[in-house]
Amino acid sequence: FRQMDLFTLAAVNLVIGFFCFFYFGIDYRRNPKRHYLLDFSLVGAVLFLQSLIQMLRSHFDFPYFLGPATVNTLTLLFHFFVLSALYRLFELPFRRFYLLAPILLSYFVLLLPLFQQEQLHRFMLGFSMITLINSICLVMLYRVKNDKFAGVITFFKFVTIFNICQTVLRSGLFVTGKYGYTMAEPNQLIHQFGWFSLTIHSALVLTGGLIILARQRQMALEARAETDPLTGLLNRFSMQERLNAELNRAVRSNQPLTIMIFDIDHFKSVNDKFGHQIGDQVIRAVAEVTQATVRNYDLAFRIGGEEFLLCLPGVDQDMAKAKAELLRQQIEQRAILTDQPVTVSIGFVVATKAQSLDELIKQADDALYHAKRNGRNQVQSNHVRQEQTASVNSVVLG
Ligand code: GH3
Ligand code: MG
Ligand code: MG
Repeated sequence: FRQMDLFTLAAVNLVIGFFCFFYFGIDYRRNPKRHYLLDFSLVGAVLFLQSLIQMLRSHFDFPYFLGPATVNTLTLLFHFFVLSALYRLFELPFRRFYLLAPILLSYFVLLLPLFQQEQLHRFMLGFSMITLINSICLVMLYRVKNDKFAGVITFFKFVTIFNICQTVLRSGLFVTGKYGYTMAEPNQLIHQFGWFSLTIHSALVLTGGLIILARQRQMALEARAETDPLTGLLNRFSMQERLNAELNRAVRSNQPLTIMIFDIDHFKSVNDKFGHQIGDQVIRAVAEVTQATVRNYDLAFRIGGEEFLLCLPGVDQDMAKAKAELLRQQIEQRAILTDQPVTVSIGFVVATKAQSLDELIKQADDALYHAKRNGRNQVQSNHVRQEQTASVNSVVLG
């Protein structure tokens, strides 16, 4: 009856391992850059192998080097690949060799008579190494900063703590049982408990892998919803939310923030002369120049047909003026069309504390309008415009 139980647990593990191996393996072939998928697939492969040996062992006699030695090493590899998958998911550097070498070495250590003859020694070696791998994993999970996978981190903390607890409990039972403190023959119980824990643990790891995949897909959809298909810039979808976040951050950290709006000059005539398709290519080229000119923490949106908005954190009036001028020149010099210059007019405003987002956008838009009226292919700021208006007023009034 007990044999049957172990057999059932091993069979469950076999199925989980098989599913993990194929499911993550197929996903890895579709996304070969996501190496953590390969690790999850290997988690499945070692679990499958280990369970297979375990199932066969209850019916056939296995030589020691294929039985306990291999099963112990596969268990270590299982934990190793989970750790490796998480390191890769969070894009942390991981010297795999320094952990893989002792794991493979442990196989040969297990062949020594000291370990062949005494199950306690095998247990202690296996337990200490599993606890080591899990501890490395737990420390990493507490250190890693990753907002995108916060839920995944919490989940794997739980899984790792669960695994450390069961390992410690099991080794405690084994040692006390060995010296007759708890029960005379605890091996069978510990064995069952061990396999039961492994089943729960592998089910949890599989669930964790599936949670990661679901999160990845969700993030891909979110990114696609925010992206303008023609240019790859951000679209209007999340503009309000993102700009407000940047504005709040700027106010909190007492940093300047520049909002810049620009529009391609005489774009109707580009469409009229060259057709809509060439028009689209011009829009794409302007977006490319823009993307190459801004820093990677600046936000670039395509907010209309040939109208763009830039959000530049930490950029004050002078810097904004220089950056806008640079962008204007870069676009002009790119000479996108051979027969006709492609230029942009740019309006910008530097945020001050009291202004709302709508006001800022309105002011950048006003500055842009001014640049258009003033002859196009130029930069205007709300700041300068106010001064000019003021001086004009004083002349008129004076
Ligand atoms: P201005 O210098 O005053 O900006 O002149 P303009 O001709 O560019 O005027 P406006 O900005 O009002 O015109 C925008 C034109 O851009 C109108 C529309 O035909 C064209 N347009 C809008 N969206 C797209 C697009 O996605 N692709 C293409 N090819 N053309 C577009
Ligand atoms: Mg235009
Ligand atoms: Mg326009």
